[in-house]
Amino acid sequence: MKIYDTLTKKKKVFTPRNKKEATMFVCGITPYDSPHIGNLRTFLNHDLIANYLRYKGYNLRYIQNITDIDDKIIKRAKEKNIGWKELGDIYFKELQNILKALDIKSVNKYAKATDYIKEIIKQVETLMKKGYAYEKNGTVFFDVLKFKEYGKLSGQNLKKLQRAERTEEDKDKKHPYDFALWKAAKPGEPAWDSPFGKGRPGWHIEDTAITEHFFGTQYDIHGGGMDLIFPHHECEIAQQEATSGKKPFVKYWMHSGFVNVDGEKMSKSFGNFVTAKELLAKAAPETIRFMMLSVHYRSPIDYSDKLKDQAKSSLKTLSDFTQRLKTLKPQKIKNDKNIASIIKEFFENMDDDFNTPKAIASIFKITNHINAKNEISADDKKAVIKLFKDFERIFKINVLNKKNEETPEEILNLAQKREELRKNKEWQKADETRAEMERLGYKVEDSKEGPKISKI
Ligand SMILES: [Zn+2]
Repeated sequence: MKIYDTLTKKKKVFTPRNKKEATMFVCGITPYDSPHIGNLRTFLNHDLIANYLRYKGYNLRYIQNITDIDDKIIKRAKEKNIGWKELGDIYFKELQNILKALDIKSVNKYAKATDYIKEIIKQVETLMKKGYAYEKNGTVFFDVLKFKEYGKLSGQNLKKLQRAERTEEDKDKKHPYDFALWKAAKPGEPAWDSPFGKGRPGWHIEDTAITEHFFGTQYDIHGGGMDLIFPHHECEIAQQEATSGKKPFVKYWMHSGFVNVDGEKMSKSFGNFVTAKELLAKAAPETIRFMMLSVHYRSPIDYSDKLKDQAKSSLKTLSDFTQRLKTLKPQKIKNDKNIASIIKEFFENMDDDFNTPKAIASIFKITNHINAKNEISADDKKAVIKLFKDFERIFKINVLNKKNEETPEEILNLAQKREELRKNKEWQKADETRAEMERLGYKVEDSKEGPKISKI
């Protein structure tokens, strides 16, 4: 199988460093706000990647970090007048609820940055000793000009890079793109003791300290959103290759494409920011999985109600087909070569850099083929059912035994309207909406994961 590597800009045959033992690290959330559908997309992509690698017999160890100390956390905690730890716990819990709802269980460990302060300090010390870092007023910076290959992942040239705005921290830097490995403590902020004085880790260093701890100085796959290529992943390469003197730090750099909403870039300032929780209130978890995975992980996805509805109806087509297939009586006919070749095609597509849209197309090709033929041999029937079982295992989408019908659109819309009303504290109207749902035969219960709808 082949994986596209952002660093070499090529599809490369997947050969883990250690035979069938594979290692994968994906950048996790900074728990200062609700996880959004951009985060969700990356996590779903890598969930599928992990499931497929394990399906192929690799013993995969998969780690995600949680940036539980960061400027944004400190700022938001102050605004909310709660502790930084408490704030982090709130959003980490929200993430866990979302993962549970979407059945994302492939990650072996969620590593919180503050649990690895010792490892972080050790890396910073090594970088200082080797002359790649310098200290100024209690903050330790990475000296980008010392690392000759800085820019190789993103294709940036340091000479051409200009920073538009200078921050307070920038005045202590030798080069505007030097970045903080260790930040000097400011009064009232959380801080840890270190040989460079009291402070806290910078953002980039936590990932390399965590991965060195678990995987060593080199490993197989590093994933994250495309927006993290520069500077975050560029800085990770600089840190780890400078520390160990070994390259490549990572064999395969995988990046998930952007999420647009109704044709526009998703951003807080455009007001089109969709949280994972909001999406879960609107669509069934399996619809969400199908929708996200029906687009190749590197391509941008344009989220819209239309896309969600298409995913829902595609899934219905598939489960209708499997019901029919189960009742289709095998005939004493020759095995169909087309069926075997489409099944093969499904796996070839998956092996080609996890091309899920093409793999899904193969699934539909087989349904159309059998529907048109309307007869099947016993062996072929077995093979097709096995294909659907494999699909369920890799995509974590149930198509063979749909448990219950999905909630009708009308009810989901009412539930969403009620959420809006509750948000605006229009309690009476919210209660009226609930009553309307009950008249239509559905009750709604409020839970931490959002509203739960069920038939009365
Ligand atoms: Zn990261």
